[in-house]
Amino acid sequence: MVIVMSAEATPGQIGSVVALVESVGGSAFVTRGTSRVLIGLVGDVERFLLLGLRALPGVSRVMRISTPYKLVSREHRPERSTVEVCGVPIGPGHLTVIAGPCAVETPEQTLQAALMARDLGAALLRGGAYKPRTSPYAFQGLGERGLQILADVRAATGLPIVTEVVDARDVALVAQYADMLQIGTRNMQNFALLQAVGQAGKPVLLKRGMSATVEEWLMAAEYIAQRGNLDIVLCERGIRTFETATRNTLDIAAVPVAQRLSHLPVIVDPSHSGGRRDLVLPLTRAAVVAGADGVIVDVHPRPEVALCDGPQALVAEDLPELARAVADLAAFMGRRSAEVFPELV
Ligand code: PEP
Ligand code: MN
Repeated sequence: MVIVMSAEATPGQIGSVVALVESVGGSAFVTRGTSRVLIGLVGDVERFLLLGLRALPGVSRVMRISTPYKLVSREHRPERSTVEVCGVPIGPGHLTVIAGPCAVETPEQTLQAALMARDLGAALLRGGAYKPRTSPYAFQGLGERGLQILADVRAATGLPIVTEVVDARDVALVAQYADMLQIGTRNMQNFALLQAVGQAGKPVLLKRGMSATVEEWLMAAEYIAQRGNLDIVLCERGIRTFETATRNTLDIAAVPVAQRLSHLPVIVDPSHSGGRRDLVLPLTRAAVVAGADGVIVDVHPRPEVALCDGPQALVAEDLPELARAVADLAAFMGRRSAEVFPELV
């Protein structure tokens, strides 16, 4: 159940609703929506119904939502949401490009990759300082040193930072540097981590688990929303299938499916889905025309020596054609390219 408070509800009225729900053994999670406070209830619905919540001062609506995910559902909010990252919009009407290296390796490599991202028309810089690697012997990322490099490159280029956090214990530290926190495919059901990023006060990029259904993906988003954060962008990054010709199978249908079930923006990762440089352009085209709200693309100044995911990283010569395709297809779809936040440039 979700309680929608009226726009004028006072903190005292919100507190009274929470106290009443808790008095019958329930839990109440307060989330700030765009204009109103929402309170998600967890517990025995039949007992909540006896509380007369609808009549309490400050309560506008009490909604029983039929989907298992509530706050992120379109049933709860029929219009699609836009998430802003330092003023960069991700959502309907825009086409937002995020680009950068898979991993932060050196200051020079990160700066060069960020300049490539700018050339591509990206409004946000991606780059992992903490890498969730399948092999414990593979490069695990530079950790806090990588975050410092990202912050320096942000200062030099004006691009806000999207970076992954892999452990709930690191959320506070990563949030000090990041403008958007990324949850990777391998952690989509790390519930403690989802709850921690829900409380971190930063927008979240939630990648789909490689074996997760759309419903499981939305339930993961609900964990974040329930802890007070509705600034969530979903990212389709390919799923495991029997096909081995590509690294993962890009589930393009998941874009419109997730957009119909949830009000959250949905972007596509053509790099981690195809896993091959030559597929990034066609998969990006498919994503934009399927209605994605953006793409996140790997670029690297020297992929042949990259410490992570070199084969899928675009090189400088690939950028003009992709930039043109994104601009043309965004216009075709009635979307504006999200520009770099002017004050940061
Ligand atoms: C990444 O974006 O670098 C990454 C690790 O992606 P995924 O979690 O989708 O594999
Ligand atoms: Mn990667």
